[in-house]
Amino acid sequence: MTQAEHLSAVARDFHRRGWALGTSGNFSVVIERHPLRVAITASSLDKSRLSPDDILEIDAGGELLRPSQGKPSAETLLHLAIVQNLGAGAVLHTHSVWSTILSDYHVGRGGFFIEGYEMLKGLEGVKTHEHREWLPIVENSQDMEALAAEIRELFDTNAKIHGFLIRRHGLYTWGRDLTEATRHVEILEFLLESVGRRQMMEPQY
Ligand SMILES: [Zn+2]
Repeated sequence: MTQAEHLSAVARDFHRRGWALGTSGNFSVVIERHPLRVAITASSLDKSRLSPDDILEIDAGGELLRPSQGKPSAETLLHLAIVQNLGAGAVLHTHSVWSTILSDYHVGRGGFFIEGYEMLKGLEGVKTHEHREWLPIVENSQDMEALAAEIRELFDTNAKIHGFLIRRHGLYTWGRDLTEATRHVEILEFLLESVGRRQMMEPQY
């Protein structure tokens, strides 16, 4: 399977599971590190019908490497910030209900901890359910340059995180390759739903 086939299959799967409805969400994978070449989903396409032809190739500055009908995702700069600052091999961004709700509920504290859950062990490097995972939240913005700068700063002080939320918008997570990044989406979406449902029973929880 090519990277473009794999990436478009992930997008269709995430749509089916309610994490990238309509045109929401965007996904990327590093093809080559030096010089940087990244495959990324094109902007404004329905994720239920994404095909390998809808995957574009960009360079380190976010410019298209091949002539194409499509336009790279509006959030390309965020993907590049994660690839360049953390050395990620794949970056996945979902717009689930639970990430949307919890990113709003906890924004006053700048994030929240997820701790004590067995599923935390699905995150790279986590060996025990006693792990305490900090999930930072940044304010949403349409100014992608400002948002990318904010995210680069976030990594300076939170080197060990596995993801972050954008308020009332969604989740970003990554991995050393597409398989690991996909697992991180599954794990974090499970944990977000668990935390969210638990807090509905007991808001102070
Ligand atoms: Zn988004």
